[in-house]
Amino acid sequence: MKIYNTLSKRKEEFVPLEEGKVKMYVCGPTVYNFIHIGNARPMIVFDTVRRYFEYKGYDVNFVSNFTDVDDKIIKKAIEEGVTADEISKRYIAECKKDMEAMNIKPATKNPLATEEICGMVDMIQTLIDKGYAYEKNGTVYYRTRKFKDYGKLSHKNLDDLRSGERTLLVTGEDEKEDPLDFVLWKPKKEGEPAWKSPWSEGRPGWHIECSEMSKKYLGEQIDIHAGGEDLIFPHHENEIAQSEAANGKEFAKYWMHNGFLNIDNRKMSKSLGNFFTVREISEKYDLQILRFFMLSAHYRSPLNFSADLMESAKTSLERILTAAENLRFLSKNAANDTLTDEENELLDKSLEYVRGFEKAMDDDFNTADAIASVFDLVKFINTTADGSRSKKYLDSLYETLSRLTDVLGIIIDRKEEILDEDIEAMIEKRQAARKEKNFALADQIRDELLAKGIILEDTREGVKWKKA
Ligand code: AMP
Ligand code: ZN
Repeated sequence: MKIYNTLSKRKEEFVPLEEGKVKMYVCGPTVYNFIHIGNARPMIVFDTVRRYFEYKGYDVNFVSNFTDVDDKIIKKAIEEGVTADEISKRYIAECKKDMEAMNIKPATKNPLATEEICGMVDMIQTLIDKGYAYEKNGTVYYRTRKFKDYGKLSHKNLDDLRSGERTLLVTGEDEKEDPLDFVLWKPKKEGEPAWKSPWSEGRPGWHIECSEMSKKYLGEQIDIHAGGEDLIFPHHENEIAQSEAANGKEFAKYWMHNGFLNIDNRKMSKSLGNFFTVREISEKYDLQILRFFMLSAHYRSPLNFSADLMESAKTSLERILTAAENLRFLSKNAANDTLTDEENELLDKSLEYVRGFEKAMDDDFNTADAIASVFDLVKFINTTADGSRSKKYLDSLYETLSRLTDVLGIIIDRKEEILDEDIEAMIEKRQAARKEKNFALADQIRDELLAKGIILEDTREGVKWKKA
């Protein structure tokens, strides 16, 4: 299995630190608003990476944080006249709803920065003790030039470096020993949330959060650290400097970064104002379609969002769902249950598509090619599954299709939601059919309801129904 490692700029064979286990950390969102579909890209991509590792039999410890203390959260709280805590709690809850709707598996742990300040203070103290950090008037800075490997992830030369986009503006900025030094701890300003520390009452810098939370929940060394490509510099570069200096060990073996979700070929972002929230998209589309759209491109390629591409994702997904529905229907009505020799051979042949899928996923999670193999399987299903096949044959194809789509996080056996008034209307239609002695139609309606999970009971008082 090969993974493209930003550190070496090459695809490398994946070798876990510990046999059968994967320790994975994904930088999560800053929670001051609803997440946009650009933020959803790393969530979908790395959930799929996790699912594929699990498919291969690995036990995955998946940690992803919420950054719940930040200038933008504080600004929003001031605008609304509420506490920063209220803002972050609200948007963590909303983000979790969106993640569930996108079928993203809950993380093993979602640490909150504000609950881990103690550990961050300890880590900063270690860095000071080791000479990698210094304090000036309550602010603690990281001594960047002291860390010899600085720039190894972003492949930047120290002398060419200017401060990145995400540089934290702090009081006392001019007191740094070197313009390259970055903030580990900063004193509070009036009205800001703050915690006690040996240096000042204040709050941690953004980068130290992830170094500490990754260490606490996964250990000093992890297999994979991931996020969007805008995080390579300075965030991940700084995380490496902090973690490796404090722990004296290589931090993460593989660094994975997803490309941007663009709109009109520009990065979708809150600051540019060119974004759609996941919630907005969910009003128009089933979020499975968004997930399918995201996985139709390689995760490292830029992906342009458009209504046309979403429509085409919808049509493609529909083909998979229809094949699954046909298999369910045929299986329910299958006359026999024994595999014929011919069916055995066909099932062997269907494994070719599974191999194609795995080959694509083994090659740095090439979901675009993996989806092509799913479509080959769908074509195979459509040409070989019919009313003459045994239930075993149909169920086996269904199981194969379901196993592959599950890696992509696509649910094929979703029961259609049915409204109470629709159930009542169908029951009335069935009663009318029975009155006309059209029992075939009456039975068909009962079966249709059963397929939607509704059980009918004919009682003396009339027809009653319940959900299965
Ligand atoms: P933020 O809340 O800005 O820290 O972003 C949370 C995650 O979303 C990070 O991994 C970012 O790299 C990622 N991200 C933000 N915007 C985009 C985008 N337009 N395309 C892909 N990933 C993005
Ligand atoms: Zn991070």
